[in-house]
Amino acid sequence: MKISIRLFEKEDIAKKIEWINDPENNRYLHYDLPLEYEKTLNWFEKNRGRKDRADMVIEADGEPVGLIGLLSIDRKNGKAEYYVSMGEKAMKGQGVAKEASRLILEYAFRELRLDKVYLYTETGNIAAQKLFARVGFQTEGLLKADVVSHGTAADRYALGVTRADWLRNQPQTPVTEAGEFFGNRLFFKRDDLIPYCFGGNKARKAELFFKKIDEGGYDCVVTYGSSHSNHCRIVANMAAKRSLPCTVIAPSEVSEPTFNSRFMELFGAKIVTVPVEEVHETIEKTLEELESAGKKPYFIPGGGHGNLGTEAYVRCYDEIASFEKETRTRFDYIFFASGTGTTQAGLICGKLMSGGAENIIGISIARKNPRGRNVVLESVRDYLSEKGFGCDEAAIEKATVFIDDYIGEGYGASDSRIAELIERAMTEFGVPLDSTYTAKAFAGMEDYLKSSGIAGSGKNILFIHTGGTPLFFDDMGRINRTERTNE
Ligand SMILES: *Cc1c(COP(=O)(O)O)cnc(C)c1O
Repeated sequence: MKISIRLFEKEDIAKKIEWINDPENNRYLHYDLPLEYEKTLNWFEKNRGRKDRADMVIEADGEPVGLIGLLSIDRKNGKAEYYVSMGEKAMKGQGVAKEASRLILEYAFRELRLDKVYLYTETGNIAAQKLFARVGFQTEGLLKADVVSHGTAADRYALGVTRADWLRNQPQTPVTEAGEFFGNRLFFKRDDLIPYCFGGNKARKAELFFKKIDEGGYDCVVTYGSSHSNHCRIVANMAAKRSLPCTVIAPSEVSEPTFNSRFMELFGAKIVTVPVEEVHETIEKTLEELESAGKKPYFIPGGGHGNLGTEAYVRCYDEIASFEKETRTRFDYIFFASGTGTTQAGLICGKLMSGGAENIIGISIARKNPRGRNVVLESVRDYLSEKGFGCDEAAIEKATVFIDDYIGEGYGASDSRIAELIERAMTEFGVPLDSTYTAKAFAGMEDYLKSSGIAGSGKNILFIHTGGTPLFFDDMGRINRTERTNE
């Protein structure tokens, strides 16, 4: 059964009246009974479009089955009151309210970025209290004679769930401490260990794109990337899992076989190789052809660029902030490989929206400044304006550091320093880096620490491992053992 929530519409009024007027349903509700159409229509007209409440309908396989929502949404204090009421009695006890509650908490903490969701429940309503506990609410206190319920004063419990508690229970990639590093403490955030097809930042992004694909009923996927592309590997896998045909438009300039391209073939992706200047029109043509054949294609931009990709790294920032809070560690610097800049844009947006203090430093693996940095800035502005988060331009500029000194001979190229670094990172930390992305970023981080006087200053440094493990194996043939001595 597929459970979803959506905004309450005028057409839902009849159901609401039927549900709320049922004595079994309204046992613990506090309405002026009976509900009538005119009154309920007034309520609907008065409240539609209000920013301080979100009234929603729970659907099971597309059929309305209950009500859920947030009241008194208070942006200043970052909190809102939650309510839920199942309407269809036959649907009770099947985990519908639990799943819907999970969805509305996700909405409250991800979309609205609230700090707390709370509720009041009559002490006698044991069934509801079991549900609230299961979705993470904790009892905060007893309020005596708090409400008049069906003619008598009733006691209520106050329950709440904080953003920090909620985040702690969301899936997170591990953060590991690697030890002393140029007189600082080095940590890795292992996004390469996202448990899907060798993980990486493209897995984090693709999960959100495929959510859209599933919800929108799309029946095929088109994307763009070279034979080295981690993005295309993941997209081809997720498409194959759903039996959706997947077309990869690939530039002929970077088309030598790699483990990633072998995965794309394994997953049955159709690879269309064209010179880079024909990529744009080939994408357009492919989409048109699919549409005129009666298909409903979904296009995922190269590298998972765009607001959905940015959102994926806002979530990564939230995980980092949650780790910092839990362990009382403050990261002074966060380094990572920056390509389309989506990863970087998400981290910056997360920081700006939560008032974080970390220095976020993207090491470019392909683009030069000023273009590289401008693309990041554009993505940050796009995302923040879509979310309606007002932020002054100076703060955005200040938060965006894009270093372009480690591109090497271009995307996918490597040199002997990089080969040596891959060998050293594997030997010392047990962490696979690759010459296209993460090793360049690691080299950039080392140089940045040395040249900007941070070496030896005891700072906490986080390196986000953005993935690319199959590329590590492509590099294996080029790396050699370095003799080490223990001084
Ligand atoms: C794509 C990729 C990057 C760059 O991410 P962007 O969001 O495009 O900046 C970094 N590391 C790895 C391993 C990648 O695959």
